Amino acid sequence: LVEIKDLHKSFGDNHVLRGIDFTVEQGEVVCVIGPSGSGKSTLLRCVNLLEQPQQGQVFVRGEDITDPDCHLDDARKHIGMVFQQFNLFPHLSVLQNCTVAQVTVLKRKPAEANEIARANLERVGLTEKVDAYPAQLSGGQMQRVAIARALSMDPALMLFDEPTSALDPELVGDVLTVMRKLALDGMTMLVVTHEMAFAREVADRVVFMDGGVIVEQGPPEEVIGNPQQERTKTFLRRVL
Ligand code: ATP
Ligand code: MG
Repeated sequence: LVEIKDLHKSFGDNHVLRGIDFTVEQGEVVCVIGPSGSGKSTLLRCVNLLEQPQQGQVFVRGEDITDPDCHLDDARKHIGMVFQQFNLFPHLSVLQNCTVAQVTVLKRKPAEANEIARANLERVGLTEKVDAYPAQLSGGQMQRVAIARALSMDPALMLFDEPTSALDPELVGDVLTVMRKLALDGMTMLVVTHEMAFAREVADRVVFMDGGVIVEQGPPEEVIGNPQQERTKTFLRRVL
């Protein structure tokens, strides 16, 4: 579903991604772990071209989205993204947050968009909050709205960048539960996370990044449970 080939990204003379090759298969859940500044967010942002790489290619559903001729808006329609900061529209209700892009981007009729939004809000356990505004919600609820909003676009792939890092500890569980359910439903997910227990339990594959390269990847029981590389061991000793 996603194929990344020899991806390089620099900000000025800061060479952040130094040749990344990797793939995400349909239905796969891949967790990306690694120290702060290793390039995890930059990698994720290259997958929907929020960052333009200097070198390499990113294929989404077989289409090279780094090709200038690619219809980026069309490619992006199939990719949902959930950020650490929820980025909800503060002046729109929960329901409206989940319908606006459906109507403007996918050209759905408002009634259809409402129905789809309600179904996804039910999926994340927020049926009773459809008419609330973001300011009236907890962080965990806001993040679940952000997930419902992304799901309402019928994405083929969901990107998560530390979706629980900004949350109070007691709210983390609700969001992880929703993500676990999504994974069980077969959603293809690429998740940057510091939640090692989640990665261990839910990921099909864990990718450890350091210094802009993939140091090690494999099933969680190998990468987290029995890492081979010294850098992975050092990182895990610090976070586990
Ligand atoms: P964290 O765990 O702290 O979120 P990360 O692995 O996500 O870290 P990135 O955010 O990808 O790391 O950043 C990697 C490097 O790229 C850092 O040195 C950062 O300062 C730099 N960087 C990221 N975004 C930009 C930007 N828009 N402009 C300039 N430098 C940037
Ligand atoms: Mg980051």
